[in-house]
Amino acid sequence: MAGCWGRTPVTLEQIEAEQLALPAVYLTADGREVIMPATRGDVIVVPGSRQLAFRAYRCTAPACPNRERGSADRPFLFTWPDPLWNVNKQGQLQFDVVPDRAAETLRRGGLPEPTCPGCLKLHDTGHQTAESRQRHSKWVVYYELPESAARYKELDEQYRRQLQAMGRQR
Ligand SMILES: [Zn+2]
Repeated sequence: MAGCWGRTPVTLEQIEAEQLALPAVYLTADGREVIMPATRGDVIVVPGSRQLAFRAYRCTAPACPNRERGSADRPFLFTWPDPLWNVNKQGQLQFDVVPDRAAETLRRGGLPEPTCPGCLKLHDTGHQTAESRQRHSKWVVYYELPESAARYKELDEQYRRQLQAMGRQR
């Protein structure tokens, strides 16, 4: 039976699962790219190492000083490192559970939300208001690989077709 239709029949759940697991870019502290399924979350241990890598973000602010700083095939990327994550002796991800997560993050040099390093320099006057930070954080988005974005769209269309086909069956 399988193969008669030229493509594998899939359920809506399978389509959704593939959308969530599309490849995403993670960056190590020294800027190395690691491509992993986005289902891995915001932080991973780089395979074969004890290094952490965090999901890559990009800045869409029109006045971003880093707008032109990307490389040939990537915009300027950065991460939102969470200093409460580390790698244990077994090489596994470990999260330090602390009473006040927000305060401890800041104490260890983390930032309260994803922040573009270029815009931070531009706006950081030492007394940045919560409001101006909020306004800026709107510009910061996950970086999506172009091929993942294209596949996502394809799957969306497949989902819609599938849904219509199911409607006709009822
Ligand atoms: Zn920026």
